[in-house]
Amino acid sequence: MSDLQNEPQPRGAKVKGRHPVDQLEAANRFIAAEAHQKMHDQRLWDLRKKRDAQMHLIPEWEELRELASEIKEHTLDHLADYLEEFERNATANGVHVHWAQDAEESNQIINDILKQHQAKTLVKSKSMLSEECHLRQSLEKSGVTVIETDLGERIQQLDNEDPSHVVVPAVHKTRTDVSKVFVKTLHAEQGNNDVHYLAETQRETTRPYILNADAGMTGGNYLVAETGAVVVCTNEGNADLSANTPPLHIVTVGIEKIIPKMEHLAVFIRLLSRSALGSPITQYTSYFRGPRKGGEMHVVLVDNSRSTRLASEKFRAGLKCIRCGACMNTCPVFRRSGGLSYGSTYAGPIGLILSPGYNAHKYRNLPFASSLNGSCTNVCPVKINLHEQIFAWRETLADEKELSLSKRILMTSLGKLFAHPKAYRTAVQTGDKVLSYLPHFIVYNQFNAWGRQRDLPKTPKETFHSWYAKNYINKGKGDE
Ligand code: SF4
Repeated sequence: MSDLQNEPQPRGAKVKGRHPVDQLEAANRFIAAEAHQKMHDQRLWDLRKKRDAQMHLIPEWEELRELASEIKEHTLDHLADYLEEFERNATANGVHVHWAQDAEESNQIINDILKQHQAKTLVKSKSMLSEECHLRQSLEKSGVTVIETDLGERIQQLDNEDPSHVVVPAVHKTRTDVSKVFVKTLHAEQGNNDVHYLAETQRETTRPYILNADAGMTGGNYLVAETGAVVVCTNEGNADLSANTPPLHIVTVGIEKIIPKMEHLAVFIRLLSRSALGSPITQYTSYFRGPRKGGEMHVVLVDNSRSTRLASEKFRAGLKCIRCGACMNTCPVFRRSGGLSYGSTYAGPIGLILSPGYNAHKYRNLPFASSLNGSCTNVCPVKINLHEQIFAWRETLADEKELSLSKRILMTSLGKLFAHPKAYRTAVQTGDKVLSYLPHFIVYNQFNAWGRQRDLPKTPKETFHSWYAKNYINKGKGDE
């Protein structure tokens, strides 16, 4: 195995405008960085095991999942009503509510709010929506200094990389990788890989920004329609600092995050952290109902294609997602290829079903980065039929002529072969014979990426069909 200390950190997919992202190419580079790949796989599998342990402590776990799914289904059926109820109650609490149709409008609204307050520095906690909207880049263009306050997000910001996971954004990095980033950007001690030292370095250098920021931003895990409140779950307390220290608090949140009542919140709080990190609850579950004393609070409700998804019978269930990351932690493809290989804001199984909804051409390869084993569906706390949707995207992309040329040729040829049983059987028999005589170097070479990690099983002496024909059909005991 390569040396974890010296192995360079593999970078993510090469994203070129609207061109299809080559996830396979980036995944191959990640797999080739053996030490990183093993570390990543192990870390995420540990989270999956912790999640399982927590699940076994809750006898009513499956009922909770069912309930969470039903609450989300019901809310999606009445989305407009609950959003309007939220707006009424939040406004009555003294919050300014804004509506944004897409990323551009959302960024414009936030830019305008900051301009009105002559705000030049913004501290923010983790928000996948802001990543989806490329908010930081938009604000920086307008001359606003944006500082991420979540440890993982800050590491990624300093390294000029996107988050690789919805819950643990820098999980693909080793301590050495982080140390190198901090030496370069925060003038940390060369070669000091101690995690406490690294965390403290981030804390010490970020605190002054928090104390002096003109504005603070948080995302929102839930919006409670009944009370007009925003609920934010974190483990570092950075959302509370970002929201409460500066005089201006801006919340950016997707419209699907709404839940009807306070009593529903408990269901999701019980599921979220257990599914995400295998811990009973997040360290901080903060409930923002209005501006801090003397301050101002704005909530920007962002659609950005969620309404389109809502209208889609096949793909609307993706809107139930609570961004726990459990589907990523369990996915064998994600664990071995790293989140940045997907080249999209959302990676792993949830990314496979969300990303093509934003741009089918650009993300046309993603739904194929799955073995369809269904483990993602089994762990999802809101019971999203992830593997079925991944398969449905493959069908949709084929219908929309979005399959790559090589896939089209392969699928058409296989389709023809499968449609002719005799030709299929001859091909299998010939293939078996040829494979058993081929020299090793012809099967396992640099062009066969599959063979780098695996060995083909020994070819059987006869195919199942010829055995079945000999023993049953020819003896008149079975049907062809
Ligand atoms: S799809 Fe399910 S498991 Fe995956 S992040 Fe969303 S809620 Fe979690």
